[in-house]
Amino acid sequence: MPIDVILPDGKTRSLPDGATAMDLAKAISEGLARQVVVARVDGVVQDLRLPLKQGQQVELCKADSPEGLDTLRHTAEHIMATAVCRLFPGAKVTMGPKSHVDEFYYDFDVPRPFTPDDLATIEAEMGKLIADNTELTMQVVSKDEALAIFDKAGQNNEYKREILGWIPEGDRLTLYSDAGFVDLCRGPHLPHAGFIKGVKLLSNAGAYWRADSKNKMLQRITGIAFAKKDDLEKHLFRVEEAKKRDHRKLGRELELFIVSERYDDHSYTTDQELDIYLGVEADPPVDHMAVDRVLAVASTTFPGRTIRKTVKLAPAPEPGRAHLDIRVRGAMSHDQRKMVEGTKWLDGAETGTVVRADVTVEPHYAEEVGPGLVLWLPKGGRLRALIEDQWRKMHFEGGYDIVFSPHIAKADLWKVSGHWHFYKESMFSPMSVDGHDYVCKPMNCPFHIMMVKSKTRSYREFPMRLAELGTVYRYEMAGVLHGLMRVRGFTQDDAHLFCRWDQVESEIDRVMHFILRMLRTFGFKDFEVNLSTRPEKFVGKPEDWDRTEKLLEAAIVRQGLPYQVDKGGGAFYGPKIDIKLVDALERKWQCSTLQLDFNNPERFTMEFVNSKGEKEQPVMLHRALLGSIERFIGVLIEHYAGALPAWLSPEQIRVITVSDKQNAYAQQVCDALVAAGLRATFGESHEKLGAKIRAAQIEKIPLMLVVGDKEVEQGGATVRLRDGGKDLGFMDTPKLIEFCQSACAVPQVG
Ligand SMILES: [Zn+2]
Ligand SMILES: [Zn+2]
Repeated sequence: MPIDVILPDGKTRSLPDGATAMDLAKAISEGLARQVVVARVDGVVQDLRLPLKQGQQVELCKADSPEGLDTLRHTAEHIMATAVCRLFPGAKVTMGPKSHVDEFYYDFDVPRPFTPDDLATIEAEMGKLIADNTELTMQVVSKDEALAIFDKAGQNNEYKREILGWIPEGDRLTLYSDAGFVDLCRGPHLPHAGFIKGVKLLSNAGAYWRADSKNKMLQRITGIAFAKKDDLEKHLFRVEEAKKRDHRKLGRELELFIVSERYDDHSYTTDQELDIYLGVEADPPVDHMAVDRVLAVASTTFPGRTIRKTVKLAPAPEPGRAHLDIRVRGAMSHDQRKMVEGTKWLDGAETGTVVRADVTVEPHYAEEVGPGLVLWLPKGGRLRALIEDQWRKMHFEGGYDIVFSPHIAKADLWKVSGHWHFYKESMFSPMSVDGHDYVCKPMNCPFHIMMVKSKTRSYREFPMRLAELGTVYRYEMAGVLHGLMRVRGFTQDDAHLFCRWDQVESEIDRVMHFILRMLRTFGFKDFEVNLSTRPEKFVGKPEDWDRTEKLLEAAIVRQGLPYQVDKGGGAFYGPKIDIKLVDALERKWQCSTLQLDFNNPERFTMEFVNSKGEKEQPVMLHRALLGSIERFIGVLIEHYAGALPAWLSPEQIRVITVSDKQNAYAQQVCDALVAAGLRATFGESHEKLGAKIRAAQIEKIPLMLVVGDKEVEQGGATVRLRDGGKDLGFMDTPKLIEFCQSACAVPQVG
């Protein structure tokens, strides 16, 4: 019996029984069949080789679609393993990642780590397999059949047997084979490898079997693949650029903040212990020499200490070079610290390699504070205060009230809100006070609700807009913490709006406009919006959902923003809008949200007296513009590569003298700028002019005012900009102040 399937345009297509998605593509056109690589069937990505069923919705995907790229990377992974098996007979292939959204990898059990030369050879072999349009074939087999096939391919090893052991008896398994290589795999895969147009193996690193350090260390080759060669080049450029812009690195260099991510799972180091993290990028035998040397130095410098070490090996950054990332942590004397920092870790003459060693010595500090809890240093504190000041100003102008709530509260509050039940894993464990459980707040909402409930409200009091820079605490797994982006204590720029139904439309509109104005003030120009609608399980009335979903959509359209609708993707308590900003590297960061809440007003029995004198339930909206202040600052640092706009720079202007002779005059210029409300500094220094300018550039100070004899005589300074060191020439003092004030002003956004 023929079957009917539904295409994305809603039309149906009749196919013979047993027809696959590939057959469907061929039935539409031969040209299309040559381009599609995978299908989305009833929402699930599926191999083109699998048969379709009656009534299924089928979307055919090309190589450059998100589904296609996923599949392409997965296939590249198999092609990589094929090349490794060809070039390194006896290599045992173990496992790759579950998801191939970004990079792909496979872990191999091999006698020695792969070198950069090996990676180049493997890449070349992959190139041949790709040029041959190597086909992948799929088989569905029993466990015994799978073992027999692995035997025949010379790939029956302890890993394969262990993996097969996880699969219930009697289950059918899928195998994919190509050019003599075969592995257990759920797929899907490309019809053939020829769709891979750009592939690059990025690294080899040690990785334990099943991520357990008690198991054998395997070698993980990671790579990336694209459907277009250009896309690969663009990607590699962005990766390099992202490394340079890493906010953790810049945060350290610019002395903005400290946060511990804990590079390992070690706990507090006692006075008898020492933690060493050693990241080695070197080829054998230099890698092993480095490990031995670091341990030898540690045990002589810290006699009698128990050394807990974490070693990560990776190939050399380039032939003949080595990079050591040495981090030593634990209680130590001043002399011990100097010894560690002053050690020449490896000698070029003995290794024949140029060695660069980055040594970080961490006597006790961030570790004791706790991972994911941020310490803002003076410059970072200044930056944060500037952001918060601007935020407060705009909120007062926007008709908000600013409120404050405590960091802890009784568990009872979270029982009413429901968090105690459905959010408990993300909350810090309770503490007992006077026989009651208290917890650190994971959210601010219930406090604001309590403020509204503090007295009987009349319809005339609405809308109430309560805003707070509220610091919340959420438990995140140690492994996912990442600088300021993923932390355990962060400050939401939170607000809750309480209004009448006749005010919902204008409140939604105002928030949308406010979000964009705020983000644009910080220099972001491109945004993407996501609207999430009613899920299967929900609270509230369906008509309220429909009504507010329409209002949210209309507000997005009015702002002229591109958007996507995530049907059924809303939280159970209300529809929402998420806004992502696009940064300088075209990365998307979700910061702003606007969320309707049909749950909390009910749970907290909120009500107000309407114009007819009757009790009515108000509408509640949650919204955040910057999201988390910590994360937003992380995004700002990476977007601007640390060179923040002048209005946000902790130090806006540095006065620099040509020689000591101009010191007194330079101080006067600096004082005049400070009196004009600018953040200017002058410090006596015996460095040469060039060195002073370079230092200011490294510290990313937007404006440099250079003062020599000529400037003293004429009463002004020569202005240089941070960007490319552009020289704007001489300005007299009144003009100078005017120029600096306008260069440092907060941008006016409509
Ligand atoms: Zn696979
Ligand atoms: Zn809220």
